[in-house]
Parts: sequence; C-alpha cells; structure tokens
Amino acid sequence: MNAALIIDAAYFAAAFLFIYGLKRMSSPVTARSGIVVAGWGMVVAVLASFLYTLDVEEAAKPHLTTNIILAAVALTLGLGWAWWSGKKVAMTAMPQMVALYNGMGGGAAAAIAAIELFGHKTHGSVGLSLAVLGGLIGSVSLSGSLIAWAKLDGRINKTLRLSGLQAINGSLLVVLLGIGAYTVYLHGGVTMPVLGLFFALALVYGVMMTMPIGGADMPVVISLYNAFTGLAVGFEGYVLNNPALMIAGMVVGSAGTLLTLLMAKAMNRSVSNVLFSNFGATGDEEQGEIQGSMRPVDAGDAGINMRYASKVIIAPGYGLAVAQAQHKLYEFVKLLQDNDVDVKFAIHPVAGRMPGHMNVLLAEAGVPYDIIYDMEDINGEFKEADVAIVIGANDTVNPAARTNKSSPIYGMPILNVDQAKQVYVVKRGQGKGYSGVENELFFRDNTNMVYGDAQKVMVAMIQAVKSLDGGGH
Ligand code: NDP
Repeated sequence: MNAALIIDAAYFAAAFLFIYGLKRMSSPVTARSGIVVAGWGMVVAVLASFLYTLDVEEAAKPHLTTNIILAAVALTLGLGWAWWSGKKVAMTAMPQMVALYNGMGGGAAAAIAAIELFGHKTHGSVGLSLAVLGGLIGSVSLSGSLIAWAKLDGRINKTLRLSGLQAINGSLLVVLLGIGAYTVYLHGGVTMPVLGLFFALALVYGVMMTMPIGGADMPVVISLYNAFTGLAVGFEGYVLNNPALMIAGMVVGSAGTLLTLLMAKAMNRSVSNVLFSNFGATGDEEQGEIQGSMRPVDAGDAGINMRYASKVIIAPGYGLAVAQAQHKLYEFVKLLQDNDVDVKFAIHPVAGRMPGHMNVLLAEAGVPYDIIYDMEDINGEFKEADVAIVIGANDTVNPAARTNKSSPIYGMPILNVDQAKQVYVVKRGQGKGYSGVENELFFRDNTNMVYGDAQKVMVAMIQAVKSLDGGGH
C-alpha cells in the first residue's frame, strides 16, 4: 500500500484519539481513561512519522540511516526521562513538571522553525511567515516556561522590577517582528547571524516577559505558554505540511487559551493584569492591622463536635496536598456519614497549585464525585452549615478578598466558609498562603485553629470519634 495513504490514515486516527481523549478528560469519572486514549493517539502519530522513511526523496536517502538512529536516540532519551520524572514527581510538584514539558514543546516547535529557516528550505510567503512566527512563539514559550519552572520550584525567588521594563519589552518585540518581516521579505534569504540574533532575542524576550510576574501567578502563566506552544506547533505543522502536528497544535492552543481565561476568571482578574501586575511578588504589601487573636482548639474536640453536627462542609487547599492527608480525610468523612452527618466538599477553582488539583487528590482517595461541589454551586450553603472545616487552605477562604481594597487578592471570589456557624482551620502554624497575605478569617469569633500537620490532625480526629462511638454508641 502507498506509504502516504497509511500516514494520512494514521494521522486521522491520531487526531480522533486526541480529540476523543480530551473529551473524556472533561469529567473526573472518565479523565484517567481520556489521558490513556490521547496517549495512544501520540503513539500512533509518532510511529506514523517513521513511515516517511519509505517515501524520501533521492537526495535525502544517504542520510536516512543516520536520521533514523538520531530519531531513535532522541525518542529513547525523551521516553526515559519522561517515564522516570513522571513516576517520581510529587503531586505538589506537578505544575513545575507541566512547565518543563511545555517548555520542551515550545523548544521543539522553535527547533523545526530553525531547521527550516537556517536550511533556507523553500516556502511560500505564508509558510515562511508561519515558520518565523512559530519560531518566535516557540522560543518565548521555551525560555518563559523555564523561568516559570524555576520560580515555582523556588529556584528563582526574585521578581524583576525595572522601571521602563514594559517599554524595553515592547521595543524588543518590535525588533523581533521587524527581523521576522525582513526574513519573509527576502524569501528566507537572510544571513545566519541575523537569524541567530532573531532566535537569541526571542529567548531573551521570554525571560524578560516572565521575570516580572509574581510566583503566585505562575500557573496562569504556564497555561498561557501552553497556548503559545500549541500555536507554535500548529504553525510548524503547516510549514511541514503535517496534519497531525496542525491538529495537535490547535487542540493544545485552544485548550491552553481556555484554561488561561478560566483561571484568570476564577481569580477575577484579566490576563493582562496577571501579566503586568505584581500579584504575590513579595507579599509585603500594606494590608492593614487585623484585630483579635487566634484561638487554638484540640483536634479531637473539633472532631467530636463535627460528629454531632448535621451539616459539615470541607474546604481543602494546598496544605492537604502537602500533607497527603486526602486518604485520612476521607476516612474521617465516612465516620461522620456513618453518624448521619451531611458532608460536602467545596472546591475553589484555584485551590492548590494547579487547576483541578483538589479534584485529583480527592479522586485518588476515592471520595465520590457527588459530594464534591464547585464554588459557585456550594457557596450559598455555608450559612446553613454547622461546621466549615478548612484544611490547608488559606487564600481561597480569605474574606479580605471581599472587602479589603488594599489586599492583593481583593476581588478574587472566595469560599464563604466564614458564614458557617463554626469554622475550624487546620494548618501547621502561622504560615501564610501563596499570595503572602494574612488571613482575617483566623481571627474571627466563630473560628478556631486546629494546629498541626493535616494528616496528623485527621488521625487525631478519627481516633477521637472512634473512641467516642466505641464507648457508648
Ligand atoms: P494557600 O497556598 O493559600 O495556603 C495553603 C496553607 O496550607 C498555608 O497557609 C499553610 O499554612 C498550610 N499548610 C501547608 N502545609 C500544610 C500541612 N502539611 N498541613 C496543614 N496545613 C498545611 O492555599 P489555597 O489552596 O487556599 O490557595 C491557593 C493559592 O495558589 C491561591 O493564592 C491561588 O491564587 C494560587 N494559585 C493557584 C492556582 C491553581 O490553579 N490552583 C493557579 C494560580 C495561583 P502553614 O504553613 O501554617 O501550615
């Protein structure tokens, strides 16, 4: 059979698997299988690429063996690294890993552009324009994602604050677009140093664009770079006339764009505010004094109080992931349910460090989806709850977001935990949330602090309720 036909059929199958996989990822019930389906799509696409070797031009034949060996080495290295890092990554370090992988995607798209442009391959002006744009966007995504990775991983703690930075970045972009337009104008006939300058400046631009953005906004930034990578890959797919790349690029580009918009909306901020403001950069902004004191309470007493409540709503956050307390938490929830307590989970859209972080954790512990609620669906219920228990969450339950205009999180929608009759906050000590601001919820009259690592606190609560029920109920 004709190799080109098999390649086309395989790409069609791969595209179908990508889209079907993505569809399945839209619900937590089917998400796991969706990832597997899309993964098979990638296997089909990669294998189909090897069929090009059956159909190469005469001129390329002498390089065939070397190229296949190089591709096999690259695949082995990539597979090995991804397998090893994917297996060992901690749940809390997932955003960093996404940043790294995304950067690699942008780099791969930029590498394709570099080969086309440095190799002076023949393209029409549309193909050439897309190669240039893909090279620019892919390079920005590569260096920007690496900075985002370093910031999330705590390797870079500084946030670049330079007066006139936006003007410098604007000029840099104008120069980059100028070189790009010049390349297209000369039908790709620009010299090596000019092309080298183009790619070097694009990488610098990615760094300059990301350095001024605060750590707390990195997940949004990564999602934006994800959209960039998709776009760059889609453009290079057009340049190589490769439909699988075009479709995969478009899927990633649109998914990344939607995710960016959703995350920005969840924080009630515009994407430009994320990119050009310094949210979470230092956390030392003027927030005003908070009156009152924090009142600690014993974990066992809090557990027993919940055992006698009718309705308990749980607000989990980043600390739950750090403590890996989801299994113990669910064990406690089952104990409460055995005692006819109505228990629900309230999930803030940016709780944790990546979208869906809490849903993934709770699914891992086997919590049924029908007691997990999105913020807008449950916020009205807090006022009817006897107890709201906040476990390792902070910014997402900070009432200052509603009222304190000087707070960096002002305007972000929050979970209405403060409206419950009694609030318990489980955290280790006086640590602040990711935005670095103090939380006035902790000082309220209806709030008690349960200090300790979330997992240890859950164990204490379970023991208290069990000993109570074992002794007389
Ligand atoms: P926060 O990061 O605001 O707070 C987490 C709290 O957990 C800390 O106050 C800490 O206090 C506590 N904690 C840490 N480790 C433990 C432990 N082992 N046991 C018990 N408690 C612990 O969490 P939220 O989930 O409320 O907020 C998420 C933040 O991340 C928001 O600012 C959000 O904007 C930001 N963000 C999230 C994104 C996402 O997609 N999810 C995207 C962009 C930003 P202590 O040290 O005292 O224990």
